[in-house]
Amino acid sequence: MKRKRVVVLGATGSIGESTLKVARDIPDQMEIVGLAANRNAEKLAAAANQTRAESVCLVDESKVGILRRALDYQPQIFSGEVGLREIACLTNADMVLVAIVGTGGLRPALAAIEAGKDLAIASKEILVMAGEIVMREARENGVHVLPVDSEHNAIFQCLDGRSSEIRRIILTASGGPFRETPANELSQVTVEQALKHPTWNMGPKITIDSATLFNKGLEMIEAHWLFGVEMNRVDVIIHPQSVVHSMVEFADGSTLAQMSYSNMCFPIQYAVTWPDRVPNSLPPLDFSKLSKLEFFPPRYADFPALNLARRAGETGGTLPAVLNAANEVAVAGFLNGRARFSEIWGTVGRVMDRHVSVAHPNLDAILRADQWAREEAGRLVGNKH
Ligand code: NDP
Repeated sequence: MKRKRVVVLGATGSIGESTLKVARDIPDQMEIVGLAANRNAEKLAAAANQTRAESVCLVDESKVGILRRALDYQPQIFSGEVGLREIACLTNADMVLVAIVGTGGLRPALAAIEAGKDLAIASKEILVMAGEIVMREARENGVHVLPVDSEHNAIFQCLDGRSSEIRRIILTASGGPFRETPANELSQVTVEQALKHPTWNMGPKITIDSATLFNKGLEMIEAHWLFGVEMNRVDVIIHPQSVVHSMVEFADGSTLAQMSYSNMCFPIQYAVTWPDRVPNSLPPLDFSKLSKLEFFPPRYADFPALNLARRAGETGGTLPAVLNAANEVAVAGFLNGRARFSEIWGTVGRVMDRHVSVAHPNLDAILRADQWAREEAGRLVGNKH
């Protein structure tokens, strides 16, 4: 295969780090040409010094001096939100991998599509908020959207291009650290407990989302847009071992599953090398050591995130952006001690109830709904204590 030249947005995060690992593992197939972060100048410089990326971008302009001093070569330097959009359009890049937490990845992703770059998307927020726009723009510009999220990458692998024959998509969820916690104890759980994910090592926001199951809710909406499947054909099953990353049930009743150890390097590499599979140093599954694979229905009543997400996805319009924004604010409130764990879904539900969804919104309408939901959720979280 041709060596892919990749720009990584969110290079200093958990996905960013795994992406750099993949690039080190398959240097003949993957080259990092651009790296971007928000404000962690030192870590961005270290990543650049190691990869020798020809361009780097730091959104926080006040830290660019620190970045310059920490670099041991002279890449092209971009900064600010404009710089983030510019690095997403680098002439020399084939693909932009978006791994920015939150909504900051949306505009650069759209810029990359317009510039004809293939997108590898880890930032599920982008598809939840603006899936209709992102997928339409990608179609119109003839670019590929490759899922990095392990579940969607698994579905993408199972489908292998046969999207018209899907009967059902089955997303697996580990169930998070509170899979067996009685409902009446959920309001008391601490930040420390919620940050202990049983099977995946990820950034703090997505780790909390995995504990509330909002992560799976966001993924249901993400799957709906990525694969063009109605929400009522996207199901969730709890699978504590996180070995089956998701499944597709086909029209003939056969189900295909994709399996590997839980390591984000697998889906990142497949998104980059697709349609090829190339050898690497990752350990394959050792079935003689897997004692069991279990599957349980989710506890819908105790983890309302799933039904809230289903409602948002079925209603469509601006409601998914509202769910996503309210959740971000509520999670931040939980992480800084202003909200209890169970108030995360309480806040999201109340903000959704107050929203009048706009159908087929343009980008401005989506961003307005996002802003409105942040303010509403901020008032609710702020009012609590
Ligand atoms: P982290 O919190 O570990 O990293 C976030 C990254 O985004 C950092 O590089 C950060 O830069 C950067 N960033 C944050 N805000 C901005 C902004 N406004 N503009 C530019 N860059 C910004 O997150 P994760 O790596 O865990 O997650 C990233 C995305 O991938 C999320 O959308 C998540 O849902 C998704 N994802 C993550 C998985 C995982 O295993 N971690 C699995 C599947 C999906 P800085 O360090 O400078 O602040």
